[in-house]
Amino acid sequence: MGVSGKSAAVSHVGRIRASNQDSGYVGQHLFVIADGMGGHAGGDVASAIAVKRIIQVDQKYASARDAEFALKSALLAANTELAETAFDHPELTGMGTTVSALIRVGDQMALAHIGDSRIYLLRDGVFEQVSVDHTFVQRLVDSGRITQEEAAVHPRRSVIMRVLGDIDSSPEIDTAILETRPGDRWLICSDGLSSYVSDEKISTILSTFKGTKDATNRLVRESLDQGAPDNVTVAVVDVGTGPESPSSPPTIVGSAALPLTYEADNARRALRLPTLLLHPLKSTMHEDTHFEPESEEYLDELILEDKRRALRRRITWLVGVVLVIAAIMVAAMFAYRWTQTHYYVGANGETVAIFQGVQQDLGPISLHSVYQQTSIKLEDLSPFTRETVEETISAKDLADAEAIIKRLADSING
Ligand code: CA
Repeated sequence: MGVSGKSAAVSHVGRIRASNQDSGYVGQHLFVIADGMGGHAGGDVASAIAVKRIIQVDQKYASARDAEFALKSALLAANTELAETAFDHPELTGMGTTVSALIRVGDQMALAHIGDSRIYLLRDGVFEQVSVDHTFVQRLVDSGRITQEEAAVHPRRSVIMRVLGDIDSSPEIDTAILETRPGDRWLICSDGLSSYVSDEKISTILSTFKGTKDATNRLVRESLDQGAPDNVTVAVVDVGTGPESPSSPPTIVGSAALPLTYEADNARRALRLPTLLLHPLKSTMHEDTHFEPESEEYLDELILEDKRRALRRRITWLVGVVLVIAAIMVAAMFAYRWTQTHYYVGANGETVAIFQGVQQDLGPISLHSVYQQTSIKLEDLSPFTRETVEETISAKDLADAEAIIKRLADSING
């Protein structure tokens, strides 16, 4: 027998959440992550029920086909158990969970997957996502409506279209058989990692940290450094030359590691207020992962709603711009009117005139005009008076301007 591979799993509640709704398991043949949802109650129960059920198929298989079949059956059995539990405990209605699982059979991996947890493979330095997200945004990407980059920041990126739970009695589960070989490093993680740490960063960590335990710890650390708004669960599986990984003791992490205590245990769900207070913004950053039933009508409705929302934003923006322009125009009109209540006396060519408005101009806009031309010639005025007129004489009002003209005329005649 050759050198066996190793595996490790870590689960962390994160910096914001009150409870860990993720569960994970790495055993001899089976490796699985489940990310539960269900709001206040249910998410931790859902992932724990699913993982505890799926653990039962951690055994040696004659072929990868057998393992694939066993995995799929286990996921469907977990689905039934979730529905029955929700039926017996109505407070758990609507709970659901993602499941991403691998069973190694020699040089093959049987895969079963539903939801938005992820399975990645690092082989010869190339890091690739193997599973496909069952999310609303992935559907938009697949249908060419948005790009992968737009999906990463889409407001609905946390909406999942498929999970195990009490909603669908026969959920569509992705299964596959993939080739694997010594040196392969498989990663299974909840979106608490993949939504907050870039693929590049994850790949670098997996390439740098040789031990599976070190790698899982470092990945969770990275998510915590990003604020870890969500529960983070990570499993790393190294494929050795042996047929299985007997050197790693089976490990259960997350809510599946705790006893199922969903019957009226409120103390466990107490809010971690100090943490929440320390992260007042971050707690609102991430919308709770939630499940939406998958149907074409519903999908179309979501897309329509997004379009309507975009249209509403555009209309709001346009109305805002129009209002601002209107306000500026009204203000300008009042300002202009105000200037036109003023008069002054000045030179208009070689004669004296009464001007309406103010002496200053506003860029190309003239704020004054000749109100009344007089027959008083500048050359008839005394040099001092002439200079004063050329520099303009402000008047309190029109009568005052006329009085100034009269004084100028008197100065000539007198
Ligand atoms: Ca999650």
